[in-house]
Amino acid sequence: MNHLVYMDNSATTRVSDRVLSAMLPYLKEEYGNPSSLYGIARSAKAAIERAREQVAAGIGALPTEIYFTGCGTEADNWALKGVLHRLKQKGKTHLITTAFEHHAILHTAESLSKEGFTVTYLPVSHAGLVDPADVKTAIRPETALVSVMYVNNEIGTIQPVAEIGAICKQAGVLFHTDAVQAVGNVHIDVGPQNIDLLSLSGHKIHAPKGVGALYIRKGVLLQNFMEGGAQERGKRAGTENVASIVGLGVAVEEACANVDAKNARLKPLRDKLIDGLLKIDRAILNGDRDRRVAMNANLSFPGVEGESLLLMLDAKGVAASSGSACTSGSLDPSHVLLAIGLKHEIAHGSLRLSLGDDTTPEDVDYVLDTIPPIIKRLRDMSPLWESMNAGKEA
Ligand SMILES: *Cc1c(COP(=O)(O)O)cnc(C)c1O
Repeated sequence: MNHLVYMDNSATTRVSDRVLSAMLPYLKEEYGNPSSLYGIARSAKAAIERAREQVAAGIGALPTEIYFTGCGTEADNWALKGVLHRLKQKGKTHLITTAFEHHAILHTAESLSKEGFTVTYLPVSHAGLVDPADVKTAIRPETALVSVMYVNNEIGTIQPVAEIGAICKQAGVLFHTDAVQAVGNVHIDVGPQNIDLLSLSGHKIHAPKGVGALYIRKGVLLQNFMEGGAQERGKRAGTENVASIVGLGVAVEEACANVDAKNARLKPLRDKLIDGLLKIDRAILNGDRDRRVAMNANLSFPGVEGESLLLMLDAKGVAASSGSACTSGSLDPSHVLLAIGLKHEIAHGSLRLSLGDDTTPEDVDYVLDTIPPIIKRLRDMSPLWESMNAGKEA
């Protein structure tokens, strides 16, 4: 088996051919510094402004509302710290977010609470959804910002962002959404969806790693991210990553134009995958069956260790990811799966399969043939599975 079945598109994606060819001139002949005045500098500057228009058009924003960043994580850090630090002087020191955000949000919130800000972490239902009514009750006079992710990166559930945005608008509180996993999977329109700040990242949508953007609605004031030159209207200094920004522009344009086509193609593949895997004894689907993106399937197999499953899948040429944070060397199961109420031992035996533009029906069939015998082998060796079946543990 030398063919790679890549089912980890929520972790990262391949740079597309169109993105790469759009980028290459800016790594070769058009290498000028965008802040300089001669020809190759002006063309680099023009390319950045074209990319800004492409990103803005994809989410219904104005080009002047788009700021390029070093990654999605940076956009998340900037949104939270930038708003809280700015509004502190007005006595707004409270942040509302959720228990199942990406670490780019959760760890930024933790850092803010160490500085003395207060943070409310909203609960998430067993289906993996945030209740807008909980947002409403959590808002206080000193609330500066609400940050709720658009699409969860592990279980793919789509949050009621427009409803949450409307609640924030009515209460006069700013609303940020981490839309890194939403771009290309759902239609984003920051105006009607009442979004004040939005983070996105290049490498989840076929642009390179190390580039992202923060949308900041006109009139929303936040502290600069980096001090230095006048780049990004003085708010995020540093010579621009021109080629990657050009790649991001093309990637956002393509992703947003193809939402319906992508969903129409991937939904039947995802459903076949979910239905096939649910035939495995005691398999559980994590996250709402319908209110999830077409690219995501996340299941738990009690009695199985996620890491062992991933290694055995890797040996069969399948790249996937598990709910447990094995890469960090920690044995803690995923905070997302715990937030939706899974027990530790169930959360440990989880598998995320994230489909993408390159996924074929043959890939799905191959995975459906490959996984069941692996689960059986792992369960045959598992003392946990044995005790679960002896009725000692449910
Ligand atoms: C990947 C991801 C990020 C981080 O983006 P980077 O560009 O890798 O820093 C943030 N939030 C979510 C939901 C993600 O999936």
